[in-house]
Amino acid sequence: MPRAVLTTPVPSSSSSSVRPPGRSVDVAVLGAGVAGLVTAVTALRAGLSVAVYERGPRDFSASAGYKAGGMLAPFCEADGAEADVVDLGLRSMALWPTLHDGVVIRGSLVVAPPRDAAGLARFGRLTEGHEPADAARIGDLEPDLAGRFRSGLFFPGEGHLDPRQTLGALRDQLEAAGVAVRFDWRGDPDAIAAGRIVDARGLGARDRFADLRGVKGEMVVIRSRDVAISRPVRLLHHRHPLYLVPRGEGVYMIGATTVESDVGEAVTVRSAGELLTQAYALHPAFGEAEIIEFNAGLRPAFPGNEPRIVEDGRVIAVNGLYRHGWLIAPALAEDIVARIVGAAPASKKHEVFHADPA
Ligand SMILES: Cc1cc2nc3c(=O)[nH]c(=O)nc-3n(C[C@H](O)[C@H](O)[C@H](O)COP(=O)(O)OP(=O)(O)OC[C@H]3O[C@@H](n4cnc5c(N)ncnc54)[C@H](O)[C@@H]3O)c2cc1C
Repeated sequence: MPRAVLTTPVPSSSSSSVRPPGRSVDVAVLGAGVAGLVTAVTALRAGLSVAVYERGPRDFSASAGYKAGGMLAPFCEADGAEADVVDLGLRSMALWPTLHDGVVIRGSLVVAPPRDAAGLARFGRLTEGHEPADAARIGDLEPDLAGRFRSGLFFPGEGHLDPRQTLGALRDQLEAAGVAVRFDWRGDPDAIAAGRIVDARGLGARDRFADLRGVKGEMVVIRSRDVAISRPVRLLHHRHPLYLVPRGEGVYMIGATTVESDVGEAVTVRSAGELLTQAYALHPAFGEAEIIEFNAGLRPAFPGNEPRIVEDGRVIAVNGLYRHGWLIAPALAEDIVARIVGAAPASKKHEVFHADPA
């Protein structure tokens, strides 16, 4: 069987039409989150016919990925994530630019106030792919942070994207190629006419995975007329670490809390206060910024916080992307599609295969 070819261009809309309802496809994807959409595009590029079924609305607001920062930070994640996640992230960094032209690779910056110098040194020991950044280098990289931090780390190989814009672009790419992407879908997966089903329902897949849990992440989006920052910045702090991801035109996503809470997607007063206080600590001019949005999402996670690909009859389920879904989805998708077309996946570490439903 042929190996999945990621560089195969998507057929243009002029050469294909939307598949009629009920007609069988090679691959039906359940869930139009980042895992589902990236798998759908990867399958399409491998020459497979695809359909997508999403329970939520067309704006993706039901997905965890809609609330995400969109940091693509494989090196920084080594601070807390397993080696497998770092490997998937490094593979995905090469794949993202082939999937979406809105991916920005300008590196990321990690800074710490003087009292957290030990934390910065520890972060440097646990991670690779960085260069030391003294006050002058920090000012060169981000002029609006000049004079604010004496030391930091620069990770030139890291990047970022805008999750909402990316989800829309992936959907548009599929629809332009004639793929039916159904939103507000309430059907029965067993009734879907497809050779294989990719279950990418995130927390909606608790019926399949008894040990799947949600980990709440709260965030705020602000707009500042006074501060221009061009790449993700992490502020290491002994109590309230924070990161900022630029969205362009003075808009920044600031996040994110990590709360072991499976219920509710509301932002607490405490978290809101901490996020805003830390933004102010990164740059006092953020004190004058306008709050555009508070939001919270539940990250799907397994014990150990590592992702799984589980094959079960005609279903291949992918889940547990936790804090790294944007970072690792392309490599996971590549492995899923390799399995579907009968090729050897690049990595088997995160794969669990069993015959019966859990
Ligand atoms: C605040 C926050 C910040 C984050 N920041 C980052 C970051 O900077 N970088 C990073 O890599 N990751 C980040 N993440 C993590 C990332 O967003 C998740 O890992 C990722 O969204 C998980 O992707 P998923 O597709 O598995 O699940 P989801 O994004 O939740 O998508 C699952 C989809 O399945 C749909 N669905 C559910 N049930 C059904 C059903 N029965 N039928 C059909 N569809 C169904 C849902 O509506 C949803 O659209 C962040 C998360 C949060 C909350």
